Amino acid sequence: MRMRRRGFIKTSLAALPLVGLSKGAKAKASDLAVRLEKAMNTPVLKVELFKQPVKITAIDLLKNGKNFIVRVRSTDGAEGIGSAHDSVMATTYPIFLKRVAPFFIGKDARELETLIHEVYLRDSNYKWQGLPFWVCVSSLEVAVLDLLGKVARKPLGELFGSIVRREIPVYRASGNRGNTPEQELAYLQKIVAETGAKAIKFRLGARMRYDEASTKRDHKMIPLTRKTFGDKMAIYADANGSYDVPMAIKIGRMMEDYKLAFFEEPVPFDYYDETKQIADTLKIPIALGEQESSMRSFRRIIEDDVAQVVQPDLLYFGGLTRSIRVARMAAVAGKDCTPHMSGGGLGYLYIAHYASCVPNCGAHQEYKGEEDTLPVSSDTSSLKSENGLLKVPTGPGLGVTIDPDFINRAQIVSA
Ligand SMILES: [Mg+2]
Repeated sequence: MRMRRRGFIKTSLAALPLVGLSKGAKAKASDLAVRLEKAMNTPVLKVELFKQPVKITAIDLLKNGKNFIVRVRSTDGAEGIGSAHDSVMATTYPIFLKRVAPFFIGKDARELETLIHEVYLRDSNYKWQGLPFWVCVSSLEVAVLDLLGKVARKPLGELFGSIVRREIPVYRASGNRGNTPEQELAYLQKIVAETGAKAIKFRLGARMRYDEASTKRDHKMIPLTRKTFGDKMAIYADANGSYDVPMAIKIGRMMEDYKLAFFEEPVPFDYYDETKQIADTLKIPIALGEQESSMRSFRRIIEDDVAQVVQPDLLYFGGLTRSIRVARMAAVAGKDCTPHMSGGGLGYLYIAHYASCVPNCGAHQEYKGEEDTLPVSSDTSSLKSENGLLKVPTGPGLGVTIDPDFINRAQIVSA
């Protein structure tokens, strides 16, 4: 879907009373609010695919080396597996074992969306929300979805809707800062050559701040990426909250001159008013959302047109069901919802399944190459980006098999 700017209205619904608007604008604004509310509250999982309950009997957190795996079993012997976010789980596994997993034992997996809401309320878990809590929920969710997909004999995407694409155009992102523009260009060319990606993302600023050296680098990087990769490459840039408003506008104008495709986190992620000010001033779409934990915050970002591309992280935000609700809210406002991808594990597969069933996922999805992945195989996909496309596995659930030796060598983690 082409990125459209500004949605339907320019004014902030949350900040402005509707009485200040004309009759027509008022009707449009309240129509948008009603449609967003509905999208936010409408379940996305197709429970009608399951005739019988899928009762969860066992949940194990396994660890092999630095990799964490969640294994879920049901009464009828079905099994689902997901990789957790390894580096987060290394710290948060007690939250998983004490506050999240026990609640799901004995429950019907078809009730997944209700269960996620209930576990958020239970034992005041909502006070714990943020990346540590939601990564535990999402790591369990993906294993439950793999289980449900196996029971229904359908790939993950079909649990949410119809498949809209089977090959996912990917982008490669560089995590570098502080190197010279020439070194960075050489690195970007290398990761593009490895994957055939038709899109790249590089970093601006100095992460939540900027200085003379980073600004000098930014001024060189923006024209140099376009010159190096040519007009057909989609070029994204991420400031990780580095700028203030005047600097973001200056850099953003330069990005517009060189036709960059979006500008991610120009100012610190929770500076919503400032981000909106930048979005209202610039033409380039602003991307935001990888640090968000709250569904309601996404609704506000979308409703107020704070950003034009929303980016829930499938793991940090609590999983696919919650992220797909954000995507459906974004669709109401004519925006793209392009997930942020956390490194390692099977994150690239979660994104592929997400993009397989979300029409407004944006032009390219992040792909982390072969970094830190697990030993998995598939009969229906090479699981690699070829010529810039990642084929979505079509087998049931995640559509992959994890090397059984890898599981056998893993230890069960206890609190
Ligand atoms: Mg980012």
